[in-house]
Amino acid sequence: MLMCDVHMRQSVSSAIKLGRELEKLDFTWLESPLVPEDIPGAVALAEALDMAVAIGEWSRTRYEMREAFERRAYDIVMHDIARTGITEGHRIGTMADTYNIPIAPHVGGGGILSVAATVEYSASCSNFMIMEHSHHANDVKNAITAEYYGPNNGFFEVSDRPGLGIEIDQSLVEKYLVS
Ligand SMILES: [Mg+2]
Repeated sequence: MLMCDVHMRQSVSSAIKLGRELEKLDFTWLESPLVPEDIPGAVALAEALDMAVAIGEWSRTRYEMREAFERRAYDIVMHDIARTGITEGHRIGTMADTYNIPIAPHVGGGGILSVAATVEYSASCSNFMIMEHSHHANDVKNAITAEYYGPNNGFFEVSDRPGLGIEIDQSLVEKYLVS
């Protein structure tokens, strides 16, 4: 599976041009091509491309996304639970499902609690597609956990522990305290 994330650096015309080339290479999605406020631009892009466009990590509430869903500006939504909160994340995920839009939650630079929350959240969403996570770029995230927590062969195991399913070792946290 190949995806291309361009972090809002495209105009509509350049995103269409890029998307058409990515389609030839069978990319799964073009991510964050435009600023999230440009809904008319996202609609034009979605209509021009066959490939999926994924947007959402910059938005915090379902109200910011409602118009985009109604106008079919996104094919996949990538909200970030550390930014929306779990409750609002569920509202966004449910609203996306109403529009037959899969979710691919974003973690990005979030810490280990953000990662665990996103895993537990994702497991509870019927329209979950895949979770974005750059684990090997963020190994330091595990520096404060009692046990290693990460993906195995690309998959996280959903915990049967209460809460987020991970334990923070306070003695390890103290190593990083700055006074
Ligand atoms: Mg990304």
